[in-house]
Amino acid sequence: DEKDGQAAALGYKADTTKVDNKKFTSHKPDQNCANCALFQGKAGDKAGGCPLFAGKQAAAAGWCSAYAKKA
Ligand code: SF4
Repeated sequence: DEKDGQAAALGYKADTTKVDNKKFTSHKPDQNCANCALFQGKAGDKAGGCPLFAGKQAAAAGWCSAYAKKA
């Protein structure tokens, strides 16, 4: 949920293309949860766990300001 306290604080969006690039200047359009090092879903999953959002799911196409490129 984008409006959840932690999600809102991290600028989480379920759709990486909806991220405010003026506010989050580090954001790149090819960045999303599916290619974030913290994403716990498997390749092809529509959503998966993220340690920053315990007990919740992050959308594979989503993004937040804690994004870290998967090595
Ligand atoms: Fe998505 Fe990574 Fe942010 Fe978790 S830390 S919500 S996987 S971008």
